[in-house]
Amino acid sequence: MEAISDLVARLNAQAATQRAFERLQSLCAALPGPVVFTTSFGIEDQAITHLIATAGLDIAFATLDTGRMFPQTYDLWAQTEARYGIKVRPFFPRADAVEALVAAQGVNGFYGSVEARKACCETRKLEPLGRALKGAQGWVTGLRADQSDHRQGLSFVSFDEPRGLVKLNPIFDWTREEAAAFTAANDTPVNALHAQGFLSIGCAPCTRAIAPGEPERAGRWWWEDEAKKECGLHVGPDGRLTRTGAPT
Ligand code: SF4
Repeated sequence: MEAISDLVARLNAQAATQRAFERLQSLCAALPGPVVFTTSFGIEDQAITHLIATAGLDIAFATLDTGRMFPQTYDLWAQTEARYGIKVRPFFPRADAVEALVAAQGVNGFYGSVEARKACCETRKLEPLGRALKGAQGWVTGLRADQSDHRQGLSFVSFDEPRGLVKLNPIFDWTREEAAAFTAANDTPVNALHAQGFLSIGCAPCTRAIAPGEPERAGRWWWEDEAKKECGLHVGPDGRLTRTGAPT
């Protein structure tokens, strides 16, 4: 049986010359167990949804419904299911955990400190993510290299050691413009907020539109220091957390 490090190296080498769709195919072929795609309905995720759904790949769709998402995101969720005839399984935070969180820090307590914000992301995103990926061998995400400096140090395929699964970023080498062109060419629905200056869209109270020339992710947790912006979904090759593009 192929060692996990050899498998990751092989898939990475293949990915360098493959198209996004072929990268997804290769991951499915390499893993005997379930593969899960966590979508936050961002433009990258919509492109990947198109690739998976139109090819009928055996990859499950999941999303983390934090309870604080924009109405436009829920609209897009419904449109996406109708357009592709798929079901995106939601993973909600535990009700008792949200009750305890809000009781402790208030309904918008995440503005109060980085620690409070991380506690909210832990409750509303990280714990549900663990359930979304439970039993999976592969995890597909919409990370792109040019979303931030740190992401440039990532790769197409990696082994997420804490979660024990192979992670694929099939459009890691795409630009935002390529993702936008792809969704437009394929009549893939996208979030109405993108046209209003929201490039990276997460929870409503933690996302704002950006001005022309601002970094793509400047609208996420905009009140915090740049260096502290992460919510813990993605772990880099050095074991450190990476900023997330999607609430994902
Ligand atoms: S992005 Fe904001 S509202 Fe959403 S889970 Fe994190 S702190 Fe909470």
